[in-house]
Amino acid sequence: MAKHKTHFEDCDVLVVGGGMAGTGATFEARHWGRDLKIICVEKANIDRSGAVAQGLYAINCYMGMQWGENQPEDHVRYARNDLMGMVREDLGYDMARHVDSTVHMFDEWGLPMMKNEKTGRYLREGKWQIMIHGESYKPIVAEAAKKSADKIYNRIMITHLLMDETNENRVGGAVGFNMRTGDYYVFRAKTVIVAAGGASHIFKPRAVGEGMGRTWYAPWSNGSAYALPIAVGAKMTQMENRIVLCRFKDGYGPVGAYFLHLKTYTQNANGENYEKKWYDQTKELVGEYIDHHPTPTCLRNHAFIQETIAGRGPIQMVTTEAFQDPHLETVGWENFLGMTVGQAVVWASQNIDPKYTNPELTTSEPYVMGSHATCSGAWVSGPEDLSPPEYFWGYNRMLTVEGLFGAGDTVGGSAHKFSSGSFTEGRLAAKAAVKYIEDKKAENINVSDKQCEDFKKVIYKPLENYTVGRNEITGGTVSPSYISPIQGLQRLQRIMDEYVGGIATNYMTNGNMLKKGLELLSWLEEDLDNVGAEDYHQLMRAWELKHRALTSQCVTEHTLFREETRWPGYYYRGDHMKLDDENWHCLTVSRRDPKTGKFTLEKVPVYHIVDEKEKKKAS
Ligand SMILES: Cc1cc2nc3c(=O)[nH]c(=O)nc-3n(C[C@H](O)[C@H](O)[C@H](O)COP(=O)(O)OP(=O)(O)OC[C@H]3O[C@@H](n4cnc5c(N)ncnc54)[C@H](O)[C@@H]3O)c2cc1C
Repeated sequence: MAKHKTHFEDCDVLVVGGGMAGTGATFEARHWGRDLKIICVEKANIDRSGAVAQGLYAINCYMGMQWGENQPEDHVRYARNDLMGMVREDLGYDMARHVDSTVHMFDEWGLPMMKNEKTGRYLREGKWQIMIHGESYKPIVAEAAKKSADKIYNRIMITHLLMDETNENRVGGAVGFNMRTGDYYVFRAKTVIVAAGGASHIFKPRAVGEGMGRTWYAPWSNGSAYALPIAVGAKMTQMENRIVLCRFKDGYGPVGAYFLHLKTYTQNANGENYEKKWYDQTKELVGEYIDHHPTPTCLRNHAFIQETIAGRGPIQMVTTEAFQDPHLETVGWENFLGMTVGQAVVWASQNIDPKYTNPELTTSEPYVMGSHATCSGAWVSGPEDLSPPEYFWGYNRMLTVEGLFGAGDTVGGSAHKFSSGSFTEGRLAAKAAVKYIEDKKAENINVSDKQCEDFKKVIYKPLENYTVGRNEITGGTVSPSYISPIQGLQRLQRIMDEYVGGIATNYMTNGNMLKKGLELLSWLEEDLDNVGAEDYHQLMRAWELKHRALTSQCVTEHTLFREETRWPGYYYRGDHMKLDDENWHCLTVSRRDPKTGKFTLEKVPVYHIVDEKEKKKAS
């Protein structure tokens, strides 16, 4: 243990994760806290880290209020509709009313924005999206964070939150290790903002073996955003609301721009428009939600999945018509070069030229996140001017643990934030964190040396497991005493896939399968004490796995609790196949007791604040 030097850093605001939300938080913390010490800690390097490093071509959340294009209310209605009624409207409205100012800053900072030549406005891709040249996006926001922070620590993975020993529900900082040097880092902090991204690779991906690592959501998003708060007893919400994406097969190339710009459409193997055929059957399951416009994403997935199960796949995108126009052909290819180069490579390898062959689509494995078109994450306080009492406890975006804040994928209930909304939410969380410090809520935090030393032993244990256990190996890599991170990950993915509604079962699960899944997850948890790491990179993999496993437990508990199929197309409860507004028009909230590891779940009302406001205005 002496081999791993310990570094101590005391600060006021600690930002965990320097992606979109983390850079936003770091930037804004400096604006409000001129004299505060602000530290940002990132697992990779903030210049290129986070989900946007996958590449993008559009800012997906911009109201355009200056031109009267959309208002925050419109966005709330849109997100509510897409999520089948289940969103925190206070959080969504709060993000939407501030997001334009964020985008205007990006513009000032030099982000290349595409303009509509006729109107001079930002070029729209859809109702909410504006087109950018995305290559420089992350370095630009990283620069803003670098100029704002006292220090940015790259290559440090945060593994645990520290807790105040005088108030057991107050945060005291975080600990982690440097993946290059192996050194141990203790950040004692008055406030912590968790902005560590979503969770991919908890369900078995379609791409395995030679394609392992190819996923739609960033493969390095490992659920720390959920595991860190869950481990200290923070409440979580809507963790059952995993997302499944319809994408081009094997490369996960996005389809949105194809629909919107190229006006392409989908068909089954017989050349039929299959979506309409599933109308009556879907109406049976979800009632009037199928008549909403736009059709909620999960219901479009539902038609796709059912058509494939009925034996009329593969489903194809009809590109051969649009690609005859040389301009549209260029747009189609450029879309991938800016976002998903891998899709173009896959097509080349399969001899697919979309001008002559309609490429295949697929539905992805499920992912868990809070910023994209879904809203799993932490249960946070909303803003004081909007939130009903159940949703407000003093500081915007503060979790149910005092001094612990969240933003971006971390925060549950507020879908469709995307990159700009995540940065905005980081700003909102940082402003509130500074106020929390100014209000003297972070006085006399006590984090003992013992607490820090105890975590140090826990963090490096996988290295010790390997060092001791490797001597028993007589051939290959299979040890009687430890499992490697990849073995543990594949076991986790199979449990989630086969019991919790992954691709193996066409997203189907039920109460009995979920209970079995929980049992298997608890055996896995026990075995993860014996995970072995041969170097610091594998140590990171070991901790990523542990965070994924804890996130998965929470997802499974939530899925078991919600006894209905709210989002057919994302997952199905075979024992409760219908949407049940009478009993389940509510948000689900869980808490894991840090001492016993047991989860408790509750229903919390979902308030439709926007239309209540409208109704009051009208009366
Ligand atoms: C394929 C894809 C396409 C997308 N397309 C668009 C688009 O076109 N337009 C758009 O607006 N949005 C798009 N998004 C969404 C956007 O990228 C996310 O909404 C946004 O990045 C979420 O911000 P975040 O800060 O919560 O997470 P991230 O930006 O992912 O940042 C999380 C950060 O935390 C770090 N981290 C994780 N764990 C730890 C740990 N334990 N310790 C320290 N650091 C840690 C990660 O390395 C990462 O840098 C896309 C996302 C993907 C994956």
